[in-house]
Amino acid sequence: MSAKLIDGKTVARESNARVAAITAELKARHGLVPGLTVVLVGDDPASKVYVGSKEREAKAAGMNSTAHRLPATATQIELLALIARLNADPTVHGILVQLPLPKQIDSGAVIEALDPDKDVDGFHTVNTGRLWSAGGGLVPCTPQGCMLLLKRALPQTAGAHAVVLGRSIIVGKPVAALLLGADCTVTLAHSKSRDLPAICRGADVLVAAVGRPGMVRGDWIKPGAVVIDVGINRLADGKLAGDVAFAEAKAVAGAITPVPGGVGPMTIACLLRNTLIAACRQAGLPQPAL
Ligand code: NAP
Repeated sequence: MSAKLIDGKTVARESNARVAAITAELKARHGLVPGLTVVLVGDDPASKVYVGSKEREAKAAGMNSTAHRLPATATQIELLALIARLNADPTVHGILVQLPLPKQIDSGAVIEALDPDKDVDGFHTVNTGRLWSAGGGLVPCTPQGCMLLLKRALPQTAGAHAVVLGRSIIVGKPVAALLLGADCTVTLAHSKSRDLPAICRGADVLVAAVGRPGMVRGDWIKPGAVVIDVGINRLADGKLAGDVAFAEAKAVAGAITPVPGGVGPMTIACLLRNTLIAACRQAGLPQPAL
């Protein structure tokens, strides 16, 4: 068997086109231009690249896209003052503070200072609470991207056993909440879990988010399972690798996301979706039909 590839680039492109079309319609019919502001503190090279891409893609979708770049020496008080201004600015519908922040700044306090309705990363505890309760909040981008990819490979998720490897606040836990919301039976595994290969072999859906290149081997995978590989690991030779041993897994799984080109492109696509949703909610308009 050779697994079907789930092409994140194509799914992201289709999503971005839909976001751009709805954005144009909002502008024409309501004079509403969704606004995304990204805040970068310091000059971490990877963060600079991410912020540049987010700014560019929001602009390409027809949104108001701005970035605030603060020096690495910025204080928490300065950052909180900027967030207070952005919270109060009606042209800003989504605020994203690029992580990690320099060590003098408490990132938890910064995230909690965001207006939850503008928290397009979905990390504010109000959005976390909504995700695990009645829903209706802003959903973290990478987990949302995983679900959109899963839907392509497995339209009917009810009753499927989903195993999530990794329990971070950014990926593992929110993915588990979304899978539960999609009526899967969910196992959330981590570094203290016993016999990971056996746990994984029971999975109809396997989401790997551990940050360890090639950790999930082919014989951990149930034949025909859907494998969503969130890992982005830079190898010594400069190449990127996922958390799943791709060639081995491809021979067993029913469908699998490649790295790169799987979950990665979905993160910014979902950031744009969240910005659009936030703008509609703040303007009192119905949820966009994404
Ligand atoms: P993280 O915060 O470091 O969390 C890693 C999780 O994996 C933890 O829950 C940890 O367990 C678990 N883990 C680590 N080693 C393990 C092992 N040997 N066996 C079982 N569980 C183990 O990482 P993250 O932020 O969730 O990111 C995970 C991966 O996804 C990384 O490669 C990251 O680059 C990638 N990522 C990609 C995107 C994207 O595609 N846009 C976005 C975010 C992250 P404990 O909790 O027990 O320590």
